Amino acid sequence: MSDCKKRFLLSEDDIPRKWYNIQAEMPNKPMPPLNPRTRQPLKAEDLFPIFAKELCKQELNDKDVWIDIPDEVREMYKYYRSTPLVRAYALEKALDTPAHIYFKNESVSPMGSHKLNSAIPQAYYCKKEGVKNVTTETGAGQWGASLSYAAKMFGLEAAVYQVKISYEQKPYRKSIMQTFGAQVTPSPSMSTRAGKNIITRTPNHQGSLGTAISEAIELATTTPDCKYTLGSVLNHVSLHQTIIGLEAEKQMEMTGEYPDIVIACFGGGSNFGGIAFPFMRHNFSGSRKTRFIAAEPASCPKLTRGKFQYDFGDEAGYTPLLPMFTLGHNFCPANIHAGGLRYHGAGVIVSQLLKDGFMEAVDISQLESFDAGILFARTEGIIPAPESCHAIAATIREANKCKETGEEKVILFNLSGHGLIDMGSYDKYFAGDLRNYELTDDDIAKNLEDIKDL
Ligand SMILES: *Cc1c(COP(=O)(O)O)cnc(C)c1O
Repeated sequence: MSDCKKRFLLSEDDIPRKWYNIQAEMPNKPMPPLNPRTRQPLKAEDLFPIFAKELCKQELNDKDVWIDIPDEVREMYKYYRSTPLVRAYALEKALDTPAHIYFKNESVSPMGSHKLNSAIPQAYYCKKEGVKNVTTETGAGQWGASLSYAAKMFGLEAAVYQVKISYEQKPYRKSIMQTFGAQVTPSPSMSTRAGKNIITRTPNHQGSLGTAISEAIELATTTPDCKYTLGSVLNHVSLHQTIIGLEAEKQMEMTGEYPDIVIACFGGGSNFGGIAFPFMRHNFSGSRKTRFIAAEPASCPKLTRGKFQYDFGDEAGYTPLLPMFTLGHNFCPANIHAGGLRYHGAGVIVSQLLKDGFMEAVDISQLESFDAGILFARTEGIIPAPESCHAIAATIREANKCKETGEEKVILFNLSGHGLIDMGSYDKYFAGDLRNYELTDDDIAKNLEDIKDL
């Protein structure tokens, strides 16, 4: 096997110059986001007070198939892109599968995950329109770390609201954000009206993405020259992430193979969309029949057990109404270690694609995900993020099916991040302290009942 190529790399010249805007090519366009008061479709201008203008336009652009990557953004991509496409020979051997398994290694970004692919353009567009400060929320801290880094690269000040429980449990991500000069505040905090209200009502509130989003939006709308940014769910975020799949497409050509199955873990859908959409366009045109599988946690199963309907993007109900697969914005996911997958809804584009049968979803329990991640670490030598373990588990399921049928399928999955700052989670696994969380149909129905009139 010594002459078999392991890693496939692109030269800097081959880093894509455009992102792929799937909205322009979807057979059924997503339904529009709605103003919750008037129920009128949102216009880009309605979002200008919150996000950089160019991002608002990208959010609602369903006309242009290709969007130019600005030179300044491409220069920053060169700091870590292209990322390698890797053939997982050792994992294949351990599974004794005829499948060919490839992964796109987004863990090599300076912040250790794919999140930087969108943090860079978001910071750039803010800078370009004269914004001085950016603000955001973060859970486990991957997004906050990426935004802090990108803000520093473009000379912006960053203020990050981190979910209080993560702020206390994951001290190193806070340290990373501070290293890049960001101001990090545990949420809920006394620094905003929303935070004060929450603390007055519930003095020991542990914080949630819902509280942190509310505080960050309030800061953005009450501070001059300040915009809010978001790390997943929205259309413009998955647009930026298509850099992953566009590179992977060129790299798969170098292997002489084409994926039969593309797999990614699923929180709000940005790394899934990032790797899947560029390949999916060949399914739209009828030239390919690739299967696309989103792997979500069994404890937060919006794709496999949620409902497709309009719902809010945050707990407090401040955002526009979005047509999505959701568990209800009041759904509080169990405290699993894949913090990046604990979100009640799915992005609008992915929701429409799932509804239309262009993709599939599977749910993975916490223990199955760690079993998979540890096998991957012990074969391929990279410790995956707890989120990415879900993609690996789904890949292993498909590879095992190939073993049964003898099929030599080509499987490509996205390694969205490494787990080197999540070793506390691995420690708990080895100590036998991690468990699965069962959700009954009643648990799910309760939260959906709350949103049935939205
Ligand atoms: C945030 C995160 C995810 C989940 O977010 P998506 O938008 O669904 O991609 C997955 N993996 C890692 C490493 C993350 O940081």
